[in-house]
Amino acid sequence: MLRKSICLIVLFVLAGCQSTSVTPTTVAALPTPLTNPIGAATAVPTANPIASRTATQPPTATFTPTFTMTPSLTPTLTFTPTMTYTPSDTPTATLSPTPLTISSATPGANVDANGTPIPTWTPPPADPSTQLADHYHFYRPIGEGDVNYVARTYPYGSTAGGLQIHLGVDLENPTGTNIIAAADGVVYYAGDDTGTQFGPTNTYYGNLVVIQHAFNAPDGKPVFSLYGHMQRVDVQTGQVVKKGDSLGIVGSTGVAFGPHLHFEVRLGDANSFHSTRNPELWIFPFRKFGTLVGRVTDASGTVLFNAPIQVKSVDIARYAYTYADTTVNPDDVFGENFVIGDLPANYYEVSVNDGGRTRFRKTIYIYPDRSTWIDIKLQ
Ligand SMILES: [Zn+2]
Repeated sequence: MLRKSICLIVLFVLAGCQSTSVTPTTVAALPTPLTNPIGAATAVPTANPIASRTATQPPTATFTPTFTMTPSLTPTLTFTPTMTYTPSDTPTATLSPTPLTISSATPGANVDANGTPIPTWTPPPADPSTQLADHYHFYRPIGEGDVNYVARTYPYGSTAGGLQIHLGVDLENPTGTNIIAAADGVVYYAGDDTGTQFGPTNTYYGNLVVIQHAFNAPDGKPVFSLYGHMQRVDVQTGQVVKKGDSLGIVGSTGVAFGPHLHFEVRLGDANSFHSTRNPELWIFPFRKFGTLVGRVTDASGTVLFNAPIQVKSVDIARYAYTYADTTVNPDDVFGENFVIGDLPANYYEVSVNDGGRTRFRKTIYIYPDRSTWIDIKLQ
Protein backbone atom coordinates (compact mmCIF):
# COMPACT_ATOMS: atom_id res chain seq x y z
CA MET A 1 0.00 0.00 0.00
CA LEU A 2 1.20 3.49 0.55
CA ARG A 3 4.67 3.95 1.63
CA LYS A 4 5.41 7.35 2.86
CA SER A 5 8.82 7.35 4.36
CA ILE A 6 8.15 8.95 7.69
CA CYS A 7 11.86 8.95 7.81
CA LEU A 8 11.53 11.98 5.60
CA ILE A 9 9.62 13.78 8.27
CA VAL A 10 11.95 12.70 10.94
CA LEU A 11 14.82 14.00 8.92
CA PHE A 12 13.78 17.47 9.90
CA VAL A 13 13.07 16.59 13.45
CA LEU A 14 15.64 14.07 14.47
CA ALA A 15 19.20 13.66 13.37
CA GLY A 16 20.38 10.39 11.97
CA CYS A 17 17.81 9.57 9.37
CA GLN A 18 19.40 7.88 6.45
CA SER A 19 16.71 8.22 3.89
CA THR A 20 18.00 9.22 0.53
CA SER A 21 14.70 9.98 -1.11
CA VAL A 22 13.72 13.24 0.52
CA THR A 23 11.30 15.34 -1.44
CA PRO A 24 10.13 18.77 -0.40
CA THR A 25 6.50 17.82 -0.94
CA THR A 26 6.66 15.27 1.81
CA VAL A 27 7.55 17.89 4.31
CA ALA A 28 4.41 19.77 3.48
CA ALA A 29 2.42 16.76 4.54
CA LEU A 30 3.99 16.70 7.97
CA PRO A 31 1.32 15.68 10.44
CA THR A 32 0.72 17.59 13.61
CA PRO A 33 2.22 16.13 16.75
CA LEU A 34 0.13 13.96 19.00
CA THR A 35 -1.35 16.11 21.67
CA ASN A 36 -4.67 14.50 22.44
CA PRO A 37 -5.02 12.14 25.35
CA ILE A 38 -5.68 8.58 24.45
CA GLY A 39 -9.33 7.95 23.91
CA ALA A 40 -11.21 4.83 23.09
CA ALA A 41 -13.54 6.67 20.82
CA THR A 42 -10.87 8.56 19.00
CA ALA A 43 -10.53 7.10 15.58
CA VAL A 44 -8.95 10.21 14.16
CA PRO A 45 -5.44 9.47 12.98
CA THR A 46 -2.91 11.23 15.09
CA ALA A 47 0.62 12.13 14.35
CA ASN A 48 3.23 9.62 15.15
CA PRO A 49 6.38 11.53 15.95
CA ILE A 50 7.61 8.98 18.41
CA ALA A 51 7.15 6.03 16.14
CA SER A 52 9.04 7.89 13.48
CA ARG A 53 12.19 7.64 15.48
CA THR A 54 12.38 3.96 14.81
CA ALA A 55 13.40 4.77 11.29
CA THR A 56 16.82 5.58 12.62
CA GLN A 57 17.19 2.23 14.31
CA PRO A 58 16.17 -0.51 11.93
CA PRO A 59 17.47 -3.96 12.62
CA THR A 60 20.30 -4.99 10.38
CA ALA A 61 19.24 -6.28 7.05
CA THR A 62 20.74 -9.68 7.57
CA PHE A 63 21.12 -11.61 10.72
CA THR A 64 24.15 -13.71 10.00
CA PRO A 65 26.04 -15.58 12.66
CA THR A 66 28.29 -12.55 12.90
CA PHE A 67 25.46 -10.63 14.49
CA THR A 68 26.51 -10.45 18.08
CA MET A 69 24.09 -10.91 20.90
CA THR A 70 26.69 -9.77 23.36
CA PRO A 71 24.69 -6.76 24.49
CA SER A 72 22.02 -9.04 25.85
CA LEU A 73 24.54 -10.42 28.28
CA THR A 74 24.97 -7.08 29.94
CA PRO A 75 21.62 -6.15 31.47
CA THR A 76 22.43 -7.41 34.93
CA LEU A 77 25.57 -5.35 34.90
CA THR A 78 24.15 -2.13 33.58
CA PHE A 79 20.65 -1.94 34.96
CA THR A 80 20.57 0.38 37.92
CA PRO A 81 19.61 -1.00 41.31
CA THR A 82 16.33 0.85 41.12
CA MET A 83 15.25 -1.30 38.20
CA THR A 84 13.19 -4.16 39.55
CA TYR A 85 12.82 -7.30 37.57
CA THR A 86 9.28 -8.38 37.89
CA PRO A 87 8.33 -11.78 36.63
CA SER A 88 7.70 -11.72 32.94
CA ASP A 89 4.29 -10.67 31.79
CA THR A 90 1.34 -12.74 32.77
CA PRO A 91 -0.58 -13.94 29.76
CA THR A 92 -4.30 -13.46 29.66
CA ALA A 93 -6.50 -16.00 31.30
CA THR A 94 -7.19 -17.68 27.99
CA LEU A 95 -3.52 -18.32 27.54
CA SER A 96 -3.04 -20.28 30.76
CA PRO A 97 -0.62 -18.05 32.63
CA THR A 98 2.42 -19.71 34.02
CA PRO A 99 4.54 -17.87 36.58
CA LEU A 100 8.11 -17.51 35.51
CA THR A 101 11.32 -17.57 37.44
CA ILE A 102 13.92 -15.13 36.24
CA SER A 103 17.49 -16.13 36.72
CA SER A 104 20.08 -13.52 37.40
CA ALA A 105 23.80 -13.23 36.94
CA THR A 106 25.96 -15.58 38.89
CA PRO A 107 29.37 -13.86 39.08
CA GLY A 108 32.31 -16.10 39.66
CA ALA A 109 31.23 -18.89 37.43
CA ASN A 110 34.00 -18.02 35.01
CA VAL A 111 36.93 -15.66 34.98
CA ASP A 112 38.56 -13.82 32.10
CA ALA A 113 42.28 -13.58 31.31
CA ASN A 114 42.73 -11.03 34.09
CA GLY A 115 40.99 -13.14 36.66
CA THR A 116 37.92 -10.89 36.56
CA PRO A 117 34.73 -12.83 37.05
CA ILE A 118 32.56 -13.05 33.94
CA PRO A 119 28.94 -13.04 34.94
CA THR A 120 26.87 -15.67 33.27
CA TRP A 121 23.25 -14.99 32.60
CA THR A 122 20.42 -17.31 31.87
CA PRO A 123 17.20 -16.05 30.38
CA PRO A 124 13.95 -17.08 31.98
CA PRO A 125 12.74 -20.53 31.07
CA ALA A 126 10.49 -20.73 28.07
CA ASP A 127 6.86 -20.29 28.87
CA PRO A 128 4.98 -22.84 26.80
CA SER A 129 1.58 -21.32 27.43
CA THR A 130 1.86 -18.48 24.95
CA GLN A 131 4.11 -20.38 22.63
CA LEU A 132 1.15 -22.58 21.83
CA ALA A 133 -0.61 -19.56 20.39
CA ASP A 134 2.08 -18.93 17.79
CA HIS A 135 1.29 -19.79 14.20
CA TYR A 136 4.40 -18.80 12.33
CA HIS A 137 4.12 -20.20 8.85
CA PHE A 138 5.91 -17.60 6.75
CA TYR A 139 9.49 -16.80 6.03
CA ARG A 140 10.63 -13.40 4.86
CA PRO A 141 9.35 -12.46 1.40
CA ILE A 142 12.67 -10.71 0.76
CA GLY A 143 15.93 -12.61 0.91
CA GLU A 144 18.89 -12.12 3.19
CA GLY A 145 21.19 -9.40 1.98
CA ASP A 146 18.26 -7.15 1.14
CA VAL A 147 15.96 -5.36 3.58
CA ASN A 148 13.96 -8.29 4.91
CA TYR A 149 12.57 -6.65 8.04
CA VAL A 150 9.36 -4.71 8.46
CA ALA A 151 9.43 -0.90 8.29
CA ARG A 152 8.58 0.37 11.77
CA THR A 153 7.31 3.69 10.51
CA TYR A 154 4.11 2.28 9.04
CA PRO A 155 3.31 -1.05 10.68
CA TYR A 156 0.12 -3.05 10.34
CA GLY A 157 -2.92 -1.26 11.71
CA SER A 158 -1.26 2.16 11.84
CA THR A 159 -1.86 5.38 9.97
CA ALA A 160 1.65 6.77 10.35
CA GLY A 161 0.07 10.03 11.33
CA GLY A 162 -2.48 10.52 8.61
CA LEU A 163 -2.17 7.89 5.91
CA GLN A 164 -4.78 5.28 5.15
CA ILE A 165 -4.82 2.53 7.76
CA HIS A 166 -2.15 0.05 6.78
CA LEU A 167 -3.41 -3.50 6.42
CA GLY A 168 -0.05 -5.00 5.56
CA VAL A 169 3.61 -4.38 6.24
CA ASP A 170 6.25 -2.75 4.08
CA LEU A 171 9.75 -3.96 3.32
CA GLU A 172 11.59 -1.03 1.86
CA ASN A 173 13.83 -2.08 -0.98
CA PRO A 174 14.87 -0.46 -4.22
CA THR A 175 13.21 -1.27 -7.52
CA GLY A 176 14.49 -4.56 -8.89
CA THR A 177 14.97 -6.33 -5.56
CA ASN A 178 13.98 -9.95 -5.78
CA ILE A 179 10.67 -10.95 -4.11
CA ILE A 180 10.32 -14.53 -2.94
CA ALA A 181 7.43 -16.75 -1.86
CA ALA A 182 7.03 -16.65 1.93
CA ALA A 183 5.82 -20.28 1.99
CA ASP A 184 4.79 -23.12 -0.32
CA GLY A 185 1.54 -22.72 -2.20
CA VAL A 186 -0.26 -22.14 -5.46
CA VAL A 187 -0.46 -18.75 -7.18
CA TYR A 188 -4.04 -17.58 -6.74
CA TYR A 189 -3.52 -14.40 -8.76
CA ALA A 190 -0.68 -12.85 -10.71
CA GLY A 191 -0.95 -9.64 -12.69
CA ASP A 192 -2.19 -6.12 -12.19
CA ASP A 193 -5.33 -5.18 -10.27
CA THR A 194 -6.89 -3.04 -12.96
CA GLY A 195 -9.58 -5.58 -13.70
CA THR A 196 -9.66 -7.56 -10.47
CA GLN A 197 -9.99 -5.63 -7.26
CA PHE A 198 -7.89 -6.49 -4.23
CA GLY A 199 -7.65 -3.11 -2.53
CA PRO A 200 -10.18 -0.43 -1.60
CA THR A 201 -10.10 0.54 -5.28
CA ASN A 202 -8.77 -0.92 -8.49
CA THR A 203 -5.21 -0.15 -9.50
CA TYR A 204 -4.25 0.01 -5.85
CA TYR A 205 -1.61 -2.70 -5.53
CA GLY A 206 -0.48 -2.35 -9.14
CA ASN A 207 1.22 -5.57 -10.15
CA LEU A 208 0.65 -8.14 -7.46
CA VAL A 209 0.89 -11.80 -6.64
CA VAL A 210 -1.44 -13.64 -4.28
CA ILE A 211 -0.52 -17.14 -3.12
CA GLN A 212 -2.87 -19.63 -1.50
CA HIS A 213 -0.92 -21.76 0.94
CA ALA A 214 -1.05 -25.43 1.76
CA PHE A 215 -1.81 -24.82 5.44
CA ASN A 216 -4.87 -23.28 7.03
CA ALA A 217 -5.37 -20.73 9.79
CA PRO A 218 -5.93 -22.02 13.33
CA ASP A 219 -9.69 -21.75 12.77
CA GLY A 220 -9.51 -23.56 9.44
CA LYS A 221 -9.69 -20.58 7.07
CA PRO A 222 -7.54 -20.74 3.95
CA VAL A 223 -4.42 -18.57 4.16
CA PHE A 224 -3.18 -16.23 1.44
CA SER A 225 -0.14 -14.03 1.17
CA LEU A 226 -0.18 -10.92 -1.02
CA TYR A 227 2.78 -9.14 -2.60
CA GLY A 228 1.97 -5.66 -3.90
CA HIS A 229 3.43 -2.80 -5.96
CA MET A 230 5.67 -5.13 -7.95
CA GLN A 231 7.67 -3.83 -10.85
CA ARG A 232 7.50 -7.16 -12.64
CA VAL A 233 5.64 -10.41 -12.01
CA ASP A 234 7.45 -13.60 -12.98
CA VAL A 235 4.83 -16.23 -12.06
CA GLN A 236 1.43 -17.14 -13.44
CA THR A 237 -1.93 -17.85 -11.87
CA GLY A 238 -2.17 -21.54 -10.98
CA GLN A 239 1.56 -22.04 -10.76
CA VAL A 240 2.88 -24.12 -7.87
CA VAL A 241 5.55 -22.27 -5.89
CA LYS A 242 7.90 -23.31 -3.14
CA LYS A 243 9.09 -21.20 -0.25
CA GLY A 244 11.89 -18.98 -1.53
CA ASP A 245 10.90 -19.19 -5.20
CA SER A 246 11.23 -15.91 -7.05
CA LEU A 247 7.90 -14.18 -7.73
CA GLY A 248 9.19 -11.05 -9.42
CA ILE A 249 10.83 -7.80 -8.40
CA VAL A 250 10.12 -4.81 -6.18
CA GLY A 251 8.57 -1.72 -7.74
CA SER A 252 6.15 1.09 -6.97
CA THR A 253 3.16 0.27 -9.18
CA GLY A 254 -0.31 1.14 -7.94
CA VAL A 255 -0.63 3.55 -5.04
CA ALA A 256 2.90 3.80 -3.69
CA PHE A 257 5.13 6.72 -2.91
CA GLY A 258 8.29 4.81 -3.63
CA PRO A 259 9.62 1.34 -4.32
CA HIS A 260 8.91 -1.23 -1.61
CA LEU A 261 7.27 -4.58 -1.13
CA HIS A 262 3.85 -4.39 0.50
CA PHE A 263 3.19 -7.77 2.12
CA GLU A 264 -0.16 -8.97 3.48
CA VAL A 265 -1.66 -12.04 5.07
CA ARG A 266 -5.31 -12.64 4.26
CA LEU A 267 -7.56 -15.29 5.76
CA GLY A 268 -10.65 -16.72 4.15
CA ASP A 269 -11.27 -14.29 1.30
CA ALA A 270 -8.25 -13.60 -0.89
CA ASN A 271 -9.95 -10.71 -2.68
CA SER A 272 -11.15 -8.85 0.38
CA PHE A 273 -9.27 -5.84 1.62
CA HIS A 274 -10.83 -6.58 5.00
CA SER A 275 -9.63 -10.13 5.48
CA THR A 276 -6.12 -9.16 6.57
CA ARG A 277 -4.29 -10.09 9.75
CA ASN A 278 -1.01 -8.80 11.14
CA PRO A 279 1.77 -10.47 9.11
CA GLU A 280 4.18 -10.07 12.00
CA LEU A 281 2.30 -12.81 13.83
CA TRP A 282 2.76 -15.11 10.84
CA ILE A 283 6.43 -14.54 10.00
CA PHE A 284 9.08 -16.46 11.93
CA PRO A 285 11.18 -14.09 14.01
CA PHE A 286 14.84 -13.84 13.21
CA ARG A 287 16.87 -16.29 15.25
CA LYS A 288 17.23 -15.06 18.83
CA PHE A 289 14.63 -12.39 18.14
CA GLY A 290 11.08 -12.37 19.39
CA THR A 291 7.74 -10.70 18.82
CA LEU A 292 5.90 -8.59 21.37
CA VAL A 293 2.14 -8.85 21.07
CA GLY A 294 -0.41 -7.33 23.38
CA ARG A 295 -3.53 -5.39 24.01
CA VAL A 296 -3.91 -1.91 25.46
CA THR A 297 -7.14 -1.14 27.25
CA ASP A 298 -8.38 1.36 29.77
CA ALA A 299 -9.10 0.32 33.33
CA SER A 300 -12.53 -0.99 32.34
CA GLY A 301 -11.13 -3.18 29.60
CA THR A 302 -12.14 -1.03 26.63
CA VAL A 303 -9.68 -1.35 23.76
CA LEU A 304 -7.83 1.89 23.05
CA PHE A 305 -6.92 3.21 19.61
CA ASN A 306 -3.69 5.00 18.74
CA ALA A 307 -2.22 4.53 22.20
CA PRO A 308 1.55 5.11 22.10
CA ILE A 309 3.69 2.24 23.33
CA GLN A 310 7.39 2.40 24.05
CA VAL A 311 9.66 -0.60 24.53
CA LYS A 312 13.21 -0.10 25.70
CA SER A 313 16.08 -2.42 26.47
CA VAL A 314 19.60 -1.38 27.34
CA ASP A 315 20.33 -1.62 23.62
CA ILE A 316 17.36 -0.36 21.67
CA ALA A 317 14.11 1.54 21.85
CA ARG A 318 11.08 0.95 19.68
CA TYR A 319 7.81 2.81 19.46
CA ALA A 320 4.41 1.82 18.20
CA TYR A 321 0.76 2.77 18.34
CA THR A 322 -2.19 0.52 18.91
CA TYR A 323 -4.41 -0.23 15.93
CA ALA A 324 -6.11 2.85 14.58
CA ASP A 325 -9.74 1.73 14.78
CA THR A 326 -12.12 -1.21 14.73
CA THR A 327 -11.59 -1.87 11.02
CA VAL A 328 -8.20 -3.40 11.79
CA ASN A 329 -8.59 -7.13 12.34
CA PRO A 330 -6.82 -8.53 15.37
CA ASP A 331 -5.40 -12.02 15.19
CA ASP A 332 -8.02 -14.70 15.76
CA VAL A 333 -5.84 -16.36 18.37
CA PHE A 334 -4.26 -13.42 20.15
CA GLY A 335 -6.90 -10.70 19.92
CA GLU A 336 -4.14 -8.11 20.10
CA ASN A 337 -4.18 -4.45 19.22
CA PHE A 338 -0.48 -4.02 18.68
CA VAL A 339 2.52 -6.08 17.61
CA ILE A 340 6.19 -5.16 17.60
CA GLY A 341 8.27 -7.75 15.79
CA ASP A 342 11.99 -8.23 15.36
CA LEU A 343 12.99 -7.50 18.95
CA PRO A 344 16.26 -9.06 20.10
CA ALA A 345 15.47 -11.35 23.02
CA ASN A 346 16.10 -9.35 26.17
CA TYR A 347 14.51 -7.54 29.06
CA TYR A 348 12.45 -4.53 28.02
CA GLU A 349 10.69 -1.83 29.87
CA VAL A 350 7.27 -1.43 28.28
CA SER A 351 5.56 1.86 28.96
CA VAL A 352 2.65 3.97 27.80
CA ASN A 353 2.95 7.70 28.24
CA ASP A 354 -0.01 9.92 27.65
CA GLY A 355 0.43 13.66 27.61
CA GLY A 356 3.51 13.48 29.79
CA ARG A 357 1.91 11.10 32.28
CA THR A 358 3.11 7.52 32.57
CA ARG A 359 0.02 5.37 32.58
CA PHE A 360 1.74 2.00 32.39
CA ARG A 361 5.22 0.70 33.01
CA LYS A 362 6.46 -2.84 33.37
CA THR A 363 9.67 -4.74 32.72
CA ILE A 364 9.21 -7.97 30.82
CA TYR A 365 11.36 -10.47 29.01
CA ILE A 366 10.89 -10.86 25.28
CA TYR A 367 11.54 -14.49 24.50
CA PRO A 368 13.50 -15.54 21.43
CA ASP A 369 11.89 -17.33 18.49
CA ARG A 370 8.33 -16.79 19.64
CA SER A 371 5.71 -14.27 20.67
CA THR A 372 5.50 -12.78 24.14
CA TRP A 373 2.14 -11.52 25.27
CA ILE A 374 1.50 -8.45 27.40
CA ASP A 375 -1.78 -7.12 28.73
CA ILE A 376 -1.60 -3.36 29.22
CA LYS A 377 -4.32 -1.81 31.34
CA LEU A 378 -3.88 1.91 31.64
CA GLN A 379 -4.32 3.56 34.99
ZN1 LIG B 1 2.19 -1.09 2.46
